[in-house]
Amino acid sequence: MILPKVNRLPPEQVQEITEIVELFGCRIQPIVGAVRTIYAIVGDERDELMINRLEGLSYIERIDRIQSPFKLMDIRSDLSTHQITIGGVTLGKSPLFIAGQCTIDPKNPDFFYETAQAVKEAGAHVLRGGVWKPRTNPYAFQGDDKSLEILMEASRRSGLPVDTEVMDENQLKLALDAGVAMLQVGARNALNYSLLRQIGAAVAGRKTIVLLKRSLHMGTLNEFISAAEYIANFGNPNVILCPRGTAPALDGYRNFPDESIVPLLKERSWAPVVVDPSHSVGRAAYVPACALAALAYGADGLCVEAHVQPSKGVGDDPKQALTPEVLGETFRLAREIWTLRHPVGP
Ligand code: PEP
Ligand code: MN
Repeated sequence: MILPKVNRLPPEQVQEITEIVELFGCRIQPIVGAVRTIYAIVGDERDELMINRLEGLSYIERIDRIQSPFKLMDIRSDLSTHQITIGGVTLGKSPLFIAGQCTIDPKNPDFFYETAQAVKEAGAHVLRGGVWKPRTNPYAFQGDDKSLEILMEASRRSGLPVDTEVMDENQLKLALDAGVAMLQVGARNALNYSLLRQIGAAVAGRKTIVLLKRSLHMGTLNEFISAAEYIANFGNPNVILCPRGTAPALDGYRNFPDESIVPLLKERSWAPVVVDPSHSVGRAAYVPACALAALAYGADGLCVEAHVQPSKGVGDDPKQALTPEVLGETFRLAREIWTLRHPVGP
């Protein structure tokens, strides 16, 4: 919908906007009001270039879009009934719990095997474990290819499907070849459109699920959902949105907790939303509260860092990881909140 700065455009300006929209296969339908005339764009009005050209005209106040910018992930798309299932859980039918270490320590694989078993007993459906890590400090432990074997061995021992982050095409190939069921796009890469495209292309035709973290710098809901659209656009719509706190941090927390975004995402997209409270608050003591708040806001599940002995962990684990006991209690309460929000019908 085109809203001009004046009440009625002179014929030469109507001609100009008509010529622009016709270039993109649309036409103009004036809606004549008593005082003001506005101009509907009839046709597919999603072309950015068409909108940019119209917005660039000095006599246009603004363009209001009627259609969603995302074709696949929109709440009104044909995919809105699409179901994503992993670890025996269909998202939306019961809560999905992902848990495990931030980082696999290749020198101490037994910790990871024990953590895998412990998170399973605590109620996790998917085991997370960082093989390759995006670290702010270049001298911090960056992960290790060897950890991929440990991850898959823990998967075999525990019977849980696994989630790990990939940051480049090589890691993507290694993870898929190894049988990783869930690929994580980290917060730092959620705006890396080349990587999103590579992942989308690689998972097309597979059952693989992508856990898309929210970037620290995503200001709008559309940016987040559009990142999911990049992946789904290649043919596999198994994308889960994962808020995990944004920048700048709330003084005292690691990031700015953003679980309150869940209902807003759900107004616009059918994509399941699984919240990561660990990176959001970044302190084990407050992770359970953040996790439960996420469920209260309507999250479909949680992704939580946990370790059998957090103080002996690497990466974020010493600060953030929950012990198996606290994890189990958090999942138990989370399930109760989920059930309160999803009463069984008659
Ligand atoms: C992680 O899951 O360990 C991680 C690095 O997450 P994020 O990308 O959200 O920082
Ligand atoms: Mn981490």
